Amino acid sequence: MKQRIFRRMLALATLVALLTGTAMFALRWRAGLDELAEQTSRQAAIAAAGYLHAADPAVCLDALGQSDLSRVTLIAADGTVLYDSNAPVSQMENHADRPEVREAQRTGNGQAVRISATLQSLTCYSAIRLPDGTVLRVANTTDLLTRSAFETIPAMLAVIIVIFLLSALLADRLTVRLVRPINAIDLQNPLAAVVYDELSPLLHRLDAQNRQIDRQMDELRRKQIEFDAITSGMDEGLIVLDERLTVLTCNRAARRLLAAGETVVGTPLAVFAHEPPIGQAAAQALAGDASVYDFARDGIQLRLSFSPVRVDGGVRGVVLLVLDVSAQFAAEQSRRSFTANVTHELKTPLTSVLGYAEMIRYGLARPEDVPGFAARIHDEAARLLALVDDIMKLSRLDEGRGSLDFEPVELYTLCQAAIDRLESKASAQNVTLSLSGAPCTVSGVPVMLDEVITNLCDNAIKYNRPGGAVRLTLTPTDAGARLTVADNGPGIAPAAQPHIFERFYRADASRSREVPGTGLGLSIVKHICEIHGASIRFESSPAGTTFTVDLPASPGDRHG
Ligand code: ADP
Repeated sequence: MKQRIFRRMLALATLVALLTGTAMFALRWRAGLDELAEQTSRQAAIAAAGYLHAADPAVCLDALGQSDLSRVTLIAADGTVLYDSNAPVSQMENHADRPEVREAQRTGNGQAVRISATLQSLTCYSAIRLPDGTVLRVANTTDLLTRSAFETIPAMLAVIIVIFLLSALLADRLTVRLVRPINAIDLQNPLAAVVYDELSPLLHRLDAQNRQIDRQMDELRRKQIEFDAITSGMDEGLIVLDERLTVLTCNRAARRLLAAGETVVGTPLAVFAHEPPIGQAAAQALAGDASVYDFARDGIQLRLSFSPVRVDGGVRGVVLLVLDVSAQFAAEQSRRSFTANVTHELKTPLTSVLGYAEMIRYGLARPEDVPGFAARIHDEAARLLALVDDIMKLSRLDEGRGSLDFEPVELYTLCQAAIDRLESKASAQNVTLSLSGAPCTVSGVPVMLDEVITNLCDNAIKYNRPGGAVRLTLTPTDAGARLTVADNGPGIAPAAQPHIFERFYRADASRSREVPGTGLGLSIVKHICEIHGASIRFESSPAGTTFTVDLPASPGDRHG
């Protein structure tokens, strides 16, 4: 803008200087012409007086013709040229129609300025009628005047150049002074500026727009904070992609699950999710169809769910949800292996039952073997019943998590009842049972908690040695209650320890065959503990095994 103002001012100053120079030149020339006309008139009057009083008019005319005058002409009353100082009279045409001649004949003297046909230049004429009717005319060309006017041009040009330079300097100063207050305007606080009144509406408008932008920025910031707060708290990864599959936003969970860096925003999806199917699934979403892609990374099972973002009927981007489906995946796998195990576990006793029954039915068994076979059938059927019972318990636990009625349960009484029930079994195995500790009340489902106590005590009796002891202890803790079931049996082999809570797992296969069991007891116990928010752990050595269950006082205090 500064340059434009400067250039305009300079052009204006130059134009003014040029116009002034031209006007000065024209005025000077005009004044010179007027002066020349007056001088010609005076010379004509003197020449006429001289001619009239001359002793020899012809000599006088010649003398006048030799003088400074450009031309002297004597014209008869009828217009015939009688004498001319510049051309032979014989070649001269009639001059009666010349304006100055006609005027002189009419009024006594006449003037005219025109281009002379004889002199071929602009000429001032002055004619005087003499007493005998002839007209004496003198003429001066403007050549001298024009020459002298042109001689002033260099000086005028010098003046114009000086004016130009001064104008340039002035224009520069003026431009700086004009622009300085505008440049000094603080665009954030335009009303504080002291500038021209003409700019006031603009500055007010600017101020209003600033305030509007501030408001919109605040709103945007608030929404961004809200969005960040929501997405950063999510367990699911959330990524928003634009039409070119470049990341617009990516929350913390998505960065963690996809092992993407902090600077993922602005990079293409392909940079941190290399698998070709991911690109294909994203492209499918861009084409308008939601898509899902499952894959495993670093032992985590991930599900990528792509959904198209539609704006005004067109797909403008893609929302990508990154879900950790490891638990779901593991549950699905365990459900499959559980079904396979159940089938196997049920088939084994059923096959033996069928075998023994068929031998008896078709008389293949010797009479003395029949009671033994019947006992086997009974045992296998009992095992089947126990299995079905445990499977039912587990599936009830799997299904019934949401609809459980918790109530205050006094554990000491529950332990005492369990011990009373197991007393005969323990003495049959030559194992002593004891309970110590103090009453503790926790919130729970009584039948389930009874299942935990009974199962742990039953195992401690079953897997004990003759003459062994089982000690049940109940201690109130800050969080709720601690239940320990300790035995002095042979313990669990170190290799088996990581597996004892798995469904259908039975350590020490050869011994397990002698000891009745389904391999589901501890799975059920663990399940119930999870439902109650309780933790269960054990320590085992060849000197014995101790199971410890920490129960929270109420469901709200449950730990993970
Ligand atoms: P089971 O029906 O075989 O008793 P559980 O799930 O209750 O099934 O136990 C799984 C395995 O853990 C048992 O087969 C046994 O080998 C081992 N076990 C459980 N409790 C004890 C214990 N107190 N002492 C030694 N081994 C134990």
